[in-house]
Amino acid sequence: MLSLTQGHLRLLEICPRRYQYTYLEHHTVPTDPAVLERQRWGTEFHRVMQQRDLGLPVDDLLKEDAALEAAVRGLLDAAPDLFTPQGDGFRQSEHRRTLAFNGYTLTAIYDLLVMGPTSGQIVDWKTYQNPPHQAQLAREWQTRLYLYLLVETSHLTPAQVTMTYWFVAPPVAQAASEPPSSITFPYTAAQHRRTEADLQRLTDTLTALLSTETDLPKVDPAKGYCAQCPFAVRCQRWSERFGLEGAMVLPAIADIAEVPL
Ligand code: SF4
Repeated sequence: MLSLTQGHLRLLEICPRRYQYTYLEHHTVPTDPAVLERQRWGTEFHRVMQQRDLGLPVDDLLKEDAALEAAVRGLLDAAPDLFTPQGDGFRQSEHRRTLAFNGYTLTAIYDLLVMGPTSGQIVDWKTYQNPPHQAQLAREWQTRLYLYLLVETSHLTPAQVTMTYWFVAPPVAQAASEPPSSITFPYTAAQHRRTEADLQRLTDTLTALLSTETDLPKVDPAKGYCAQCPFAVRCQRWSERFGLEGAMVLPAIADIAEVPL
């Protein structure tokens, strides 16, 4: 059974062809070194938070990176309740949940899950400089899928679960002393039903598309997604990304697809 994570659902909804290139054919795209460095730092932050939660020493990791140490300390100061041990609950970092759904395996990995007899709190660490708007975050598949899966795989009702994003500034913003901030989403039975209906629609569509043995469809260029897509050259949508105002504008060399000889 194909696994569907929030990343798969997001790309499927934006553009089925992009889902195909990324997850079915595993095409890699060149990444800006600055983005790679932010990803590395984010991975380190997650590693420290997980090791800390497991009771493993983190001093060696922190002493090599003052920004990382400041970020972890800032989070511990901003959310002390989150790190206070609870006697009768369940708590786990990098907690994985799966659910068989309409021929697929829905999958989520929570950065931290804290559960009590009548409550469940999903926590996600984001090493973004600028948190997105709350309404945008509420629409993200990560928020919707994570809450849906917790209700479907536990004894909890929608009203008993929440999802909290904690935003921790990466080193660039650390100089500006940005304190960690958070956004919490409650959940309702109506949202749960809407998410289920959307999951049904998306998985039905994917099953129908995969049965045709042709390339998955491209998004309508008028929606504007091609302008930010790293597959614009491969898709021959490069004028959407790079512009063609009369003169020929060549894409960056790293964006030109390799031709096998
Ligand atoms: S360039 Fe446009 S059509 Fe092609 S994969 Fe990207 S978003 Fe989809």
